[in-house]
Amino acid sequence: MLLQGKTAVISGAASKRGIGLATARRFAAEGARIAILDIDGPAAAEAAASLGPSHIGLACNVADKASCEAAAARVLEAFGHVDVLINNAGITQPVKFMEITPEDWRRIQAVNLDGVLYLSQAFVPHMRARKSGSIACMSSVSAQRGGGIFGGPHYSSAKAGVLGLAKAMARELGPDGIRVNCVTPGLIATDITGGKLTDELKAKIIEGIPLARLGTAEDVAGIYTFLASDLSAYVTGAVIDVNGGMLIH
Ligand code: NAD
Repeated sequence: MLLQGKTAVISGAASKRGIGLATARRFAAEGARIAILDIDGPAAAEAAASLGPSHIGLACNVADKASCEAAAARVLEAFGHVDVLINNAGITQPVKFMEITPEDWRRIQAVNLDGVLYLSQAFVPHMRARKSGSIACMSSVSAQRGGGIFGGPHYSSAKAGVLGLAKAMARELGPDGIRVNCVTPGLIATDITGGKLTDELKAKIIEGIPLARLGTAEDVAGIYTFLASDLSAYVTGAVIDVNGGMLIH
């Protein structure tokens, strides 16, 4: 098992068909103990219980620094140590450039980008003290190709910010034994699109994908597993595409 004896924190892992919960299932199958942090506290607790008795689920708003600090304290109290942090929580919105309101801009940046900063800041002192840690951050193909899949320009911007932040973290935290990497999925079949992805649009997107299908949450979970495990011990500052060939560069 790739994660035997490790403990992992995964944000945004409460939604039933989401990438976070698929990752939690995979990590648990690889021997890890999981803390699910999600804005929906009861759903986080339910998701953790579905994995087994040794896992925990807590309410945490990643866009709020104090909430991240409180959640980190509770996780460390419960587990004693944390090896892996998966900054997975995110939200999107399908709007055009001129339709972005100041409130929407801030909301999308807050969860997708501020959330990576605050939750990482909550765990890095602990990882630094142990001289060990793996942090994986959720970006998107939308950051690399200027959107055009589902989310608006504010989403592309926030996810591009994640790439810059994670690479800078990799450089600064490497000497402390902390690795920081990103995943950039293409279109993955989850509920994040809130039923707004029509069959027609889906078929059009699939025409541009060499592997001729949308991605699954498990496709992304596999890459997070690689980044969490010692298989990637010499990988930091990397960006791993999980897009079926939608963007080859
Ligand atoms: P999802 O909606 O199923 O999961 C997102 C989870 O984040 C939910 O459980 C939600 O409750 C939680 N969340 C939302 N706001 C939060 C907050 N402020 N604090 C803590 N948790 C919060 O969607 P998903 O598709 O599984 O998305 C997971 C990540 O993958 C997101 O960052 C998303 O942007 C990214 N992503 C998704 C796709 C895709 O096509 N589905 C592609 C590229 C990147």
